[in-house]
Amino acid sequence: MSINYLALANAGVDQLQPYQPGKPVEELERELGISNSVKLASNENPLGLGPKAKAAIEAALPELARYPDANGFALKAKLAESLGVDIDQLILGNGSNELIDLLFHTFVSAGQEVVYSQYTFIVYALATQAHGARAVAVPARDFGHDLDAMAAAITDNTKLVCITNPNNPTGTFLGKAELEAFLVKVPENVLVVLDEAYTEYVDEVERLPSIDWLAQYPNLIVSRTFSKAYGLAGLRVGYMVCHPELIGVLNRVREPFNCNSLALAAAEAALDDSEYLQRAVNLNRQEMAKYEAFFEQRGLHYIPSRANFITLDLQRDAGPVYQALLREGVIVRPIGGYGLPTCLRISIGLEHENQRCMEALAKVLV
Ligand SMILES: *Cc1c(COP(=O)(O)O)cnc(C)c1O
Repeated sequence: MSINYLALANAGVDQLQPYQPGKPVEELERELGISNSVKLASNENPLGLGPKAKAAIEAALPELARYPDANGFALKAKLAESLGVDIDQLILGNGSNELIDLLFHTFVSAGQEVVYSQYTFIVYALATQAHGARAVAVPARDFGHDLDAMAAAITDNTKLVCITNPNNPTGTFLGKAELEAFLVKVPENVLVVLDEAYTEYVDEVERLPSIDWLAQYPNLIVSRTFSKAYGLAGLRVGYMVCHPELIGVLNRVREPFNCNSLALAAAEAALDDSEYLQRAVNLNRQEMAKYEAFFEQRGLHYIPSRANFITLDLQRDAGPVYQALLREGVIVRPIGGYGLPTCLRISIGLEHENQRCMEALAKVLV
């Protein structure tokens, strides 16, 4: 007997491909016979776990036999205070990825449309597909979101619009005026998720007043994460901020213990560690400038980035360069899967890691 499980699955699942993670560093090193490789592929914080988060994790260990606080009260209270919102405007997730899925699960059904930009976070395309919805991938403008075209793409059938700012995998950034002009045009019954996973890396003067906008745009949902600048990618914790009644609806669908105790404790401590955050942001700025100078000096094309990575456009198939870099022990991210087969996304690492990367690039690009 053989069962066709795919035929049993919900509409759209047969079109999905499992997310392709990079190989574990150890396995890659074994295959290539190299050691001491540097991983600049997943936009993680190169500083590693911050001291306050580490201490909070250690302090939380004795309570691990207990279930976590299903409401994440302490973390939400701290977030509410630092963001200037009410606690009931917040929802926590097992990474912001879980919350994006929760949003789709709650609001998007088969046949409806989801609007997003051509080159953006792959999770939006995956969730759209998994829910049998119709993807409206609007052609990019200069590698970033074309907001005019996105507004024009909204129909009576549109349920959700997804905007990533700064964008992944291109690092492009939408300013305040542009984004606000867009929000005004979106009908109130169309939800807009503004994914700000990299917002901490944006200069404060340029950062969007996205939280302030919530009072004016009840269909807006701001999504953030502790996985990038806060250095907690492995623990999985993110949050969304929006209208309290919208949070109430999401909470009906959310699984109660979706955020684990260590993640809650570490995120709370990370919010108090402004010194670590500043160090991460400063390092990123300083090292980003080195990549830009390196690319310019060599006449290489890159996409100016406001995030913690920079995307190099080789203007030819990037696969061979990716492979050659691997042999030099430098792991970057090919983004053909995002529709950019000539590009490599490089996460900004520590000073010596970036130096290795640039030396390897200089060697393989001769
Ligand atoms: C990395 C990233 C996230 C974070 O996902 P988590 O599930 O919170 O780790 C969210 N959105 C974008 C665009 C990202 O690049």
